[in-house]
Amino acid sequence: MKPFAFARPAGVAEAVAAVAGDPAAVFLAGGTNLVDHLRLGVASPGLVVDVRTLTSGEVTGTGNGGLRIGAAVTNSELAAEPRVRARYPALAQALLAGASGQLRNMATTGGNPLQRTRCVYFQDVTMPCNKRERGSGCSAVGGYTRYHAILGVPPSPDPSAPGTCIATHPSDMAVALAALDAVVQVQGPGGTRAIPFTELHRLPGGEPAKDTVLEHGELITAIDLPPLPSRARSAYRKVRDRASYAFALVSVAAVLEVADGRIADARLAFGGVAHKPWRATQAEQALRGQPATDEIFRAAAEAELAEARPQPGLDGGNAFKVPLLTRTVVATLRALTPEAQT
Ligand SMILES: Cc1cc2nc3c(=O)[nH]c(=O)nc-3n(C[C@H](O)[C@H](O)[C@H](O)COP(=O)(O)OP(=O)(O)OC[C@H]3O[C@@H](n4cnc5c(N)ncnc54)[C@H](O)[C@@H]3O)c2cc1C
Ligand code: SF4
Repeated sequence: MKPFAFARPAGVAEAVAAVAGDPAAVFLAGGTNLVDHLRLGVASPGLVVDVRTLTSGEVTGTGNGGLRIGAAVTNSELAAEPRVRARYPALAQALLAGASGQLRNMATTGGNPLQRTRCVYFQDVTMPCNKRERGSGCSAVGGYTRYHAILGVPPSPDPSAPGTCIATHPSDMAVALAALDAVVQVQGPGGTRAIPFTELHRLPGGEPAKDTVLEHGELITAIDLPPLPSRARSAYRKVRDRASYAFALVSVAAVLEVADGRIADARLAFGGVAHKPWRATQAEQALRGQPATDEIFRAAAEAELAEARPQPGLDGGNAFKVPLLTRTVVATLRALTPEAQT
């Protein structure tokens, strides 16, 4: 591991100034992702700035009936929070589907959405990877693609193009936050700003190293959950290779409002299939105003997946994700509409 300086500033402003003023500085929260990357040589910062105790560790009510989650709230605390469990079950379920109890005790609200891809080539510094080193190539194209993207990728990506990356975003929590229309509160050297969660993460767009729209030195201080209509129900469903301690092959977060057997409103996000939590707007459109039936749910998934670009691979590729995600959408929505199924 490359030696680095370590700082534990007294406040948020000081931490932001320390990172903003040093291109080789990074924030450290629970450390469950960053410390692995320091050990593997994936990250080699000159300065590590500990923010673990600087932001709020509380979940507070907002004036409009929503919740504000401090960036230091751990994944365990958030999953157990009674208001989250009662009003935003998709978020509690997504958190509990992630990692292990020990990891969730350390992982934070600020750090979880900013964890980096689990692409095996990204984590192996002996392999070419555009996300680690732009222009070195993408080893995943033509390699192992079981955990890679099918949405937001070209049909035949060029592995030697410097912008190519077919990695997926690994966070479960982020998929739920995308469906819940969460808002990220950020403090940077220029002041504060609020970013809709669906706009936080980005597609590679020629710059695979940049996972999010955050500028260097911008710190997540809190994440806001807007209130949901009283009839809204939500759920998160994750499909993985092992029953626990495994990342999503595919996942679905859904927020559904049903009135008189018809879908009044729907919000859907997919995990495990794109470089970012994938808000399924085509599927949402196909659901609104329709009866809550399996046929409609399947047609909605198919509408979204019409743009899917499965990747071949040494492991058989990832075309299996298209039918798997379709079935997962149907199962998630069916479980949210039990009265429509009788
Ligand atoms: C074995 C294993 C299995 C796992 N399984 C899953 C899983 O199934 N599902 C899942 O979702 N996750 C899983 N994880 C990942 C885990 O959830 C993340 O590592 C964790 O949520 C990251 O949070 P952290 O606070 O530890 O972040 P850190 O590791 O401290 O930081 C992560 C990144 O965020 C930045 N950062 C941290 N806080 C802030 C902030 N407030 N503002 C700006 N930047 C910040 C850091 O600079 C760093 O780049 C797993 C991890 C391991 C090791
Ligand atoms: S998919 Fe992205 S992270 Fe994985 S090897 Fe290719 S460029 Fe690197």
